[in-house]
Order: sequence, then structure tokens, then C-alpha cells
Amino acid sequence: MTKYAQVILPLAVKSDFTYQIPEMLEGQIMVGCRVVVPFGNQKLYTGLVKSISSEPQAEVSSVKIKSIESVLDAAPVVTEKQLELWAWMASYYVCAEGEIMLTALPGGLKPQSAIWVYPGDVLPAPVEVKNKEWNILQTLESQARISIPQASELMQVKNPLLPLKQMEANGWIRLEYEMGVPYKVKTRTVWGLTESVQSDAELSKVLTSLTKFPKQEAALLHIIAAGYQGKKLSTRELKDQHQVSASALQTLVKKFIIQAEEEVIDRTQKLAGFRKRGEGEQLFDWQQQALHLINQYFSEIPLKPTLLEGITGSGKTLIYLELIRQKIQEGLQVLYLLPEINLTPQVINRLRTAFGDKVGIYHSRFSEQERVEIWHKVLTGAYEVVVGVRSAIFLPFEQLGLIIVDEEHDSSFRQSEKVPYYHARNLALWYGNHWKVPVLLGTATPAVETAWAAKEGKFHSVQLNRRALDAIPPTIDIIDLNHQHKFKLSNGIFSDRMEAAIQAALDKKEQVILFQNRRGYAPYQICRKCGHIPQCIYCDISLTLHKQAKELKCHYCGYGHQVSLRCEQCGALEVETEGIGTEKIEEEIHRVFPTARVDRMDQDSVKSRSAAERLIEKMELGETDILVGTQMVAKGLDFEKVSLVGVLLADPLLFYPDFRSREHAMQLLSQVAGRAGRRRIQGQVMIQTRQPHHPVFTWLKDGDYKGFLEEEWKVRQELSYPPFCRLIRLELRHKDAVRLGNSAKALEHILRKIFDRSVLGPEPPPISRVRSEFRLQFLIKISNKASPDGVRKQLLTGLENWYKHTEYGNVRVWIEVDP
Ligand SMILES: [Zn+2]
Ligand SMILES: [Zn+2]
Repeated sequence: MTKYAQVILPLAVKSDFTYQIPEMLEGQIMVGCRVVVPFGNQKLYTGLVKSISSEPQAEVSSVKIKSIESVLDAAPVVTEKQLELWAWMASYYVCAEGEIMLTALPGGLKPQSAIWVYPGDVLPAPVEVKNKEWNILQTLESQARISIPQASELMQVKNPLLPLKQMEANGWIRLEYEMGVPYKVKTRTVWGLTESVQSDAELSKVLTSLTKFPKQEAALLHIIAAGYQGKKLSTRELKDQHQVSASALQTLVKKFIIQAEEEVIDRTQKLAGFRKRGEGEQLFDWQQQALHLINQYFSEIPLKPTLLEGITGSGKTLIYLELIRQKIQEGLQVLYLLPEINLTPQVINRLRTAFGDKVGIYHSRFSEQERVEIWHKVLTGAYEVVVGVRSAIFLPFEQLGLIIVDEEHDSSFRQSEKVPYYHARNLALWYGNHWKVPVLLGTATPAVETAWAAKEGKFHSVQLNRRALDAIPPTIDIIDLNHQHKFKLSNGIFSDRMEAAIQAALDKKEQVILFQNRRGYAPYQICRKCGHIPQCIYCDISLTLHKQAKELKCHYCGYGHQVSLRCEQCGALEVETEGIGTEKIEEEIHRVFPTARVDRMDQDSVKSRSAAERLIEKMELGETDILVGTQMVAKGLDFEKVSLVGVLLADPLLFYPDFRSREHAMQLLSQVAGRAGRRRIQGQVMIQTRQPHHPVFTWLKDGDYKGFLEEEWKVRQELSYPPFCRLIRLELRHKDAVRLGNSAKALEHILRKIFDRSVLGPEPPPISRVRSEFRLQFLIKISNKASPDGVRKQLLTGLENWYKHTEYGNVRVWIEVDP
């Protein structure tokens, strides 16, 4: 009987298609394997088998069904559990499984199409570019490459090859042709004995024959000695460690005594090197009690997620380690999710010390090849614990026994910069609920939604309210800059009190962290004569001054030009900078504290993982006195000798136009404060602001996060924001503001028919134009009672109706659920 396979292809909108399984491939094609299939009038594409059935899906029975060409995997690379997660995601986040597949699979496993579009060397000015070409160039800004089917969709042409070839001729893009499996096992050449010299008798005969050739004899003896230890040496090892020459090896080959062999190298091995013994890590009584309570909750039916609320330094990590140990003993796997920035060598060392090479690390800075190896080790169960960033939720666990989401409130768990938009905590909660896996959410400052779920009894809650080493909580000072201004606001960065406190810390040989969530030198330049502020020509935003690079740069599109001392509008020589960036603070420290050793930690100074590690190491070794940085310094770092933490201007945090801005300010400032006095010195936190009476500061000073939550719940309930409803954000983008405005009005009409008064907008988002495209957004408030799948169907029907107006055809829409 003929069988059919549903295959996911790397396409947006609709991405699963039915294919026939040819008789000769029956039994070889399994759910979760990659297959090569014909698609459209293009040649062949690689997809992933989602399900197998004995009948084609009803909707396709009339069309002629094509056959699968070949299968790429002998065993599934994706588990059925993952496929179910993808299906749920596609429904909840209103996106295609093909898009999820592209995010979930490491690059080396990603389905390939015959032709790929890559960025070219020439960046055209927006005026030179047609709309359809613009869509391609724009997508390449956020995506490494584009498949032909996706290009066809973006350009809205059936055969995009012709226009793409033209773009390639202009140097705007590059087309690459490829097929098959890009992942290759890494090997090296090593030396072993040939079959003719396997016995001891043969060996001694050979050695005797070499007595007159001491170099060959020595080479052979090294190879034999390594063989006794079960090892084989590479040419390089023989040369570097034993001074064996290549010619000696060649001669031995000619004499049929040795031969070259290919040995597979385990790429993940090199990560295992870094180890250091932890302190005697014993649980205190009160930590033991928390652990006991968590275990009790984990065994309850029905199983609910557990929130572990613990102040900084209360030993959450110790409890995680204990839980991981228990799960490993039960033969289960553990997933430990962390925000990118918290995955420091400090954390990795602790896990490696406790669990050795059963620990896998999954990180966005690993190469695609390394990620594939980690993927396989999870699939085969070689890894029992994986610590990773948000994308680790997509790893192919078969025996998951626990998911830990540490710093669960952290916004980096949300993928907000590219499609599919998702929140890893939400995925973890679904996975736990669906597959009955305990989920532990840990934080000192729970997300407003999480805390509400705990209050409502949907989550269990466990508290850790003491600091392990009896460190005293830091003092928090709010410095009123309005007041300071009347006296002397020294150089516009440090108030007198901040300056004195830094000096005092330096005198005591203690370290200081200064926080300012703005990189570059100054947020903008202004002409004192005409008031002109240089703007990005492609975006609706002012250019940030980067003094070291002598450039004015746009942080949204990368556009920039050289700094000029003359106003570009009126020509006056009265250009000044306004506001404070990390670069300016660094400069001022050199001026005010000339002997202090300063380092800066932000996106500009930390471009690689090793650069970040070096900065952390210098702090640990006491080679840095003052560390200046953006939120990179606020999170996860734990330095013994930091006694003062300064926030130079808290105001931008408080007034960012987003309903979560108070929550984020509260969490970030709590976290920054937590960096001070982590051991036995009492820490000091100083926050400079022009809004000293903002309620956030009162809660912060009193350590009253509960008070903040109560107030925030009240406000969100009144204004109807999550957790009291769900939000869906639609963003429309187009180069032509008029067409965009008209199409948004038409869509508004359709949306109001479906969702009535819960539609807000259209209105411009905070940055209303980026890369020459204007943006308008809608916010739809959905009742918590509405089924996500029902809402998705309504929304898609509405959008389909709107797309029928051809004039809106090339206005693009982004759908973001739970923005
Ligand atoms: Zn001017
Ligand atoms: Zn720009």
C-alpha cells in the first residue's frame, strides 16, 4: 500500500506539503528524518518528515502528488516531542513550522535548497532599489541567507532567479549553489602501524632493520609507545613534541611499516578544559528546606511549575545543582536555561566541577559545527545536563526530567529581533505541562506575569530570603541631580557625592562598577546656534557619537559618517554633545581619577566571547579598579571586591515608552544593586536621577519588590495589560508613507470587525522609520479566555481579506504574540 509523508519545507506562511513515499524508500523514511523533495518549478529541496500516513491529506488528494527523491538520515535528527512543540508554537505564535525549523535546527542540520542568496559586497542607497529588491536586502540584514522559495515570496514573483541574477550583477547579493548535507565530521591525520607489523616478532624484526637509521627508529618507537596508551599521534604532534621529521615518516610509509589514518575529532572536547574546584558547597538548613519543598511540589499530581524566589546571594544555584544531581541519578536529562549574558565561565566551571563531561553547553557564539555535535550528543543521551541560552529549548531531549529557567524575568528569553518571535519560558512551560516534566523558574525579581500566576495558585512558590554568607544588603542612595545642579554637577557626569564615594572606594582598594545603559560617547550632537541634531538619513532617530571611532553612528541600521566640528546645517562651530554614553564616562574617569585602572564593557568593546572573559578575569584578579558598562555589567557577574555600584542616570530606564518599562527598570536596578557587596563588605549603591520621587526608588530602597508587584498588578488590571489579557502586535512596513497609511486604515477596518474595540492603532512605534521603511503598528488585546488557535484563525482570515486588495500586496506585516 502506498504511504504518504507530510514534509516541512523552509517556507513562511504555508510550510507543510504531502509527498508520496516510493516503495524502495519505504522503511527508510521515518518521522524526524530529512528528505530531498521536488518543489515547484525549481529543482530539489530538503525538508523534514513531520508525519507518515496511509492516505494523503484531504486537501491535496486532487493534485498530482510528487514522490520523495531520497532520504538524508539513517535515523531521525528531530524527535516527535520536538515536532509537537513546533506545531504548538506555529499555532500559538501565528507562524509557519518552516520558520520554526529554521530557528530550531543548528545551521549544519538545516534543510538546504539548491540555491541560496547571500549579502553582496555593495550596499546600494535606498533610492536605487525597487521594492521587491529592497525586501531581499532588508531580510538579509537579519537573516544570514535566503532560500529561493523565500525569495519568491519576498519578491512576490514566481521565478525570482532572473531578478536575483540582476541584483547579483550589481554586486548587491551573491548566489550560491549547493545541495546535500553541509555538516562534516572533523578529522585529523594520525599514524599507525600497517597490518604487516602487528605481532611482536614482526615488530622486533622491523626495529632491528632500522638500527642504522636512528631517526626512523625513533619515529617508530614514538608511534609504538603511543599505541600502548591507546593513542595515535598526528604529524604535528610527532614533529612538535618528538622532533620527528616528515621525511622519516615518508620513508617508513615506503617501507610499509606505518600508514596514515583519519581520526574523528570531537569538537566539543576543547570546551572541557577549564576547571577549578568550587568551595565546600554545603546546603544550609533553610536551603535544605526549600529543596525539600521543591521536591514535594515536583511529585504532586497535577504537576504545576514552581517559582523559586531568592534574593541575590541566597544560593539558588546550589539548589539547582542538587536537583540536577538527583535527576541524573534517576537516569534523566536536565535542561538549564540562562540568559545569554549569564552564561559566564563562573557558571560553567561550577557545573563542570560537579558533573564533569556530562555537561553540554549551548551558546549562540558556538560555531554551527559545534552545535551539530552538541545536538547529536543530546539526541544519543551522551549529555545529561545541558546549560544553554533560549535556543537550547529546541534540543532533541528524549528523557528530560527537569527544566530550570534561571533569571526567568530576563527579556533575552524572548526572541524579538527576528521571526519566529517566541519566549523560551513560555515554551518551557508548555513542554513541562504537555510532557509532565517539572519546571523550575528561578529569580530574585519575578516577571509580573509569573508572580501573578504564583499568586493565583497556578504556580507553586518557594522563597529564599537569606543571604548565604550573612552579607548585609547594600545601602541605596538616590541622588537628586536637580538639586546637585545648583551646586556643582562636576562635569555633568558625577555628582559630588558619587565622586567622593568612588574616591573612597579606590582609597580602600575596593572595586567600583558604573552602569549606564547607553553605549557610545553621547546619544546625540546638537548645534548650539541653530539647534540642529544630526539624524540618520534612513531611520527616524538621532545619530550616536562614537568618539574613539570619530564617527556618528545609527544604532538601528549601521549608517554613519565622520564627525565634523562644524554644524552640517548652519556651518557654525558650536557643536556640542548631549547626554552620556559609556565611552564618555570612561573618558571622564581618566580625567577625574587619573591613577584608576578602567575597563569598559559594552557591545563595542566586547565583540567576542574571549574579550568578555578577559574583562571578567581582570576584575577577578583585581587588575581593574573601575568597570564601566551597559546592562552587560548588571547581570550575573559576581565579584568579591566590588563595594560601590553607581547608576549614572536612571531616567531613560524609567521612561521608555513600553508598558513594561517600570518592570524592566525595577528588575535591572535591583540586579545592578545586587552586584554591590556580595561577600563580607557592605555594599553601597548610588543612583543619580532627575526624578528622585519616582516610586521605583522607594520600592528599591525598601527592598519591597512585593510592593512594586501589588501596584503594577493594579495598574495593569485597570488599563488591561498582561497578565490580565494577551497582546498581539501587528507591524506594517513600507517605504511609501502614504501607501502604508492607506493600507493601515483598510486593515484597521477589517480588524475592528473581528476584534472590535480591543484594537489599538494604527500608530507609529517609538522609532517610526528604520532603514527607509515607515512603520505603523496595531495592538490587539485578547481576552485570556479566548482560545489561541481560534484567535489565530480569525486573524489570518482578516489578513487574507486585506491582502486581496492588490494595492496593499507589498506592504509587509509582522505578527508578534506576547510582545
Ligand atoms: Zn547649526
Ligand atoms: Zn539608521
